[in-house]
Amino acid sequence: MDFQLTDEQKDLQRSVREFAEGEIAPHVMEWDEKSEFPMEVIKQLGKMGLMGVVFPAEYGGADLGYVDYVVALEELSRVDGSVGIIVAAHNSLCTNHIYVAGTEEQKRKYIPKLASGEFLGAWGLTEPGSGSDAGSARTTAVRKGNCFVLNGTKTFITNGHYADVMVVIAVTDKTTGTHGLSAFIVEKGMKGFRAGKKENKLGLRASDTSEMIFEDCCVPATNLLGKEGDGFIDAMRVLDGGRISIAALSLGIAQGAFDAALKYSKERKQFGRPICEFQAIQWKLADMATEIEAARLLTFRAASMKDAGMKTTQESSMAKLYASEVAVRCANEGVQIHGGYGFIKDYPAEKFYRDVKLCTIGEGTSEIQRLVIARQLLKM
Ligand SMILES: Cc1cc2nc3c(=O)[nH]c(=O)nc-3n(C[C@H](O)[C@H](O)[C@H](O)COP(=O)(O)OP(=O)(O)OC[C@H]3O[C@@H](n4cnc5c(N)ncnc54)[C@H](O)[C@@H]3O)c2cc1C
Repeated sequence: MDFQLTDEQKDLQRSVREFAEGEIAPHVMEWDEKSEFPMEVIKQLGKMGLMGVVFPAEYGGADLGYVDYVVALEELSRVDGSVGIIVAAHNSLCTNHIYVAGTEEQKRKYIPKLASGEFLGAWGLTEPGSGSDAGSARTTAVRKGNCFVLNGTKTFITNGHYADVMVVIAVTDKTTGTHGLSAFIVEKGMKGFRAGKKENKLGLRASDTSEMIFEDCCVPATNLLGKEGDGFIDAMRVLDGGRISIAALSLGIAQGAFDAALKYSKERKQFGRPICEFQAIQWKLADMATEIEAARLLTFRAASMKDAGMKTTQESSMAKLYASEVAVRCANEGVQIHGGYGFIKDYPAEKFYRDVKLCTIGEGTSEIQRLVIARQLLKM
């Protein structure tokens, strides 16, 4: 077992950290307060290869693996979870769905533009009436000649307003349950498609979370992604990778909250000495650091299994469940260590506290991760 990053992975970590601290950190609070989408940064990340991390060079990707992807996402999210979730939804949901289920023609048409950051991607599964129970989606896709006509609304879609390309799951056969769901590639500007309500959120406010509305939207039949009826099965495969990215997002936020708390505990003096000299604070820091390290190991294990071509349903869910819950605890303790200064916007602790909550909800809540893990255990 090798727990070390390679020299190339350490270089990647260093360069993403430098970029995040130099180009993202100075703007984080302004973007957060204005809910401003950091499009310029996303374009720069495209140039750095971070909008197509895990895709082969022949499709314009960076030709790296999931371990590298986790390294990069953790560094971005350590500075701004909003940038982390934008990159995660684009890479591991939208682009990866096209990569795992697309025809050669679809891959060549879309992945190079997505990987370079020229196009931004979104992935629409959730609907107002179907979240955890994603198989009960109601958006319909009815075949009419050379088109599928889509009608319905997707909700809470990351990058929904800004995406050029979206993967959308819709019902093609109402009689066969989850086997009646299919995936489609929808492009911005297709008649009958529009982005709807942009959510005003607790955290991750610089990321975009929007409705996607389909009203008699005619999608060419050539944009059916994967086999008709395989949309749900492919979506679950996509989520195996996606959940590793939410684990990495969680790790980054947890590490950011920890770093801020450690620094503050050395600076803040009470009773004539830095608060880090009090055992109560030291125990918090020790627990945070230990749990983050355990979460990192689970996440890297899932990522390296994925790189080895193994099925990671259980490991991805374990990593996502544990890392997200650790991150929530770390962000909470981060605020506590800052005392009253953790409650105001002059310090980063309150933003980590707000941003982190998405991690136990998105791409399947903690309750759903436990269901997935238990189902895998009971199969044994
Ligand atoms: C910021 C943000 C970004 C998102 N981005 C995307 C995106 O890009 N694409 C996309 O498709 N979706 C996206 N989502 C949606 C997200 O995946 C869902 O919100 C999530 O899956 C939960 O669904 P829900 O909100 O409908 O909650 P519900 O399913 O209604 O759950 C409510 C509560 O009930 C619990 N619950 C539900 N069923 C069970 C059960 N069987 N057993 C035990 N407990 C249960 C849940 O765990 C939860 O605590 C995003 C959400 C947010 C907030």
